[in-house]
Amino acid sequence: MSRRTGRLFFANPGPTNIPESVMRALVHGSQDFQDPDFVELVRNCIARLKRVVRTSGEVFLYTGSGHSAWEATMVNLLSPGDTVLMLESGHFSESWSGMCRKLGLVVETVAADRRMGADPALVTAALREDRAGRIKAVCAVHNETSTGVALPLADIRAAIDAAGHGALLLVDTISSLGSLEFRMDEWGIDAAVGGSQKGLMLPVGLGFTAVSAKGMAAHPQAKLPRNYFDWSVMMERPFRSFVGTVPTQMFYGLAESLRLIEEEGLEALYARHHRLGEAVRCAVRAWAGNAGPQLFCQAPARLSDSVTAVLMPEGYDANALRRTALDTFNVSLGGGLGGLDGKVFRIGHMGDLNEAMVIGTLGAVELSLARNRVPHGAGGVNAALEYLAAA
Ligand SMILES: *Cc1c(COP(=O)(O)O)cnc(C)c1O
Repeated sequence: MSRRTGRLFFANPGPTNIPESVMRALVHGSQDFQDPDFVELVRNCIARLKRVVRTSGEVFLYTGSGHSAWEATMVNLLSPGDTVLMLESGHFSESWSGMCRKLGLVVETVAADRRMGADPALVTAALREDRAGRIKAVCAVHNETSTGVALPLADIRAAIDAAGHGALLLVDTISSLGSLEFRMDEWGIDAAVGGSQKGLMLPVGLGFTAVSAKGMAAHPQAKLPRNYFDWSVMMERPFRSFVGTVPTQMFYGLAESLRLIEEEGLEALYARHHRLGEAVRCAVRAWAGNAGPQLFCQAPARLSDSVTAVLMPEGYDANALRRTALDTFNVSLGGGLGGLDGKVFRIGHMGDLNEAMVIGTLGAVELSLARNRVPHGAGGVNAALEYLAAA
């Protein structure tokens, strides 16, 4: 294989590109994490992270990826045998459900067409059925990274309220925070589960949960076994997080990534993600002509602004296309997850990204479609350029 020249265009939907200034900030020697200056840095980061989550609740952090934050959230809020109502969305709702079952929870699902996402009315119906109050939590993946379908969280909150049910609302915001509009307090979310390596533009390894007052009130009654993830233990610690050694370097990176987010401003950041996401979609819609690849998400109001899943035409291998893009053009695309392996490729457009990077990626995809003789409509990159020129 010939050498891959030039810069790697990393268009995976997590991990994402780490800005140069964040990489430099991460380079830091070991230190005592009890050092008062460091404790102050952590406190400052947590306060600023709360502004990104848009909450005045508590935040607990763990050394671990998003999976660790899922697990921490469940064991701190639920008891063995409790029922959770999971909105089916795709690979990540399935993995979250699988974890819940292993932890000793009962999982009821709100079935959904994966190209559309769940209907909030079905949430209301399921909760109305639950006269015995077995359902303790409703779980939703805000942005299903495997399908590119984003759920309207305000509508889900309204669906729970319409049933007059007291279940907690737990949301996976791992691939939406720092990319899509997210308003924890306003949307009545009781726990927001996050990770570092997507919209927050950091390496993998810092997971967290933001918790509402209602969530904190439920915590003392939760009886699932826990040790490393125990919020009660964390609350005794100086920064109300971590059991064990604190990943100190990560906070120098987080302080810088939060600075970048603050400098851009949340509204501008959401708008940028929308603009870049729409540019990608313009290209895919053009390719879809001539029975080509098409948008996996079929619900126009739910198209994700942080990742686009593209469904290949029948009989064409998405992984062969990804190999061409990587080996020939040094562009890394996401693959299809679970049952979508080989059928879908994914273009990540979250985090530290601009128009030029998106156009470069789309150009490489268009070239790879041609090289692999995948039928497609012409002019995808041009459609994206035309959109961006006017945006
Ligand atoms: C990436 C991702 C996860 C898993 O997070 P890890 O950091 O890989 O453990 C969970 N949910 C969603 C929606 C994700 O995008």
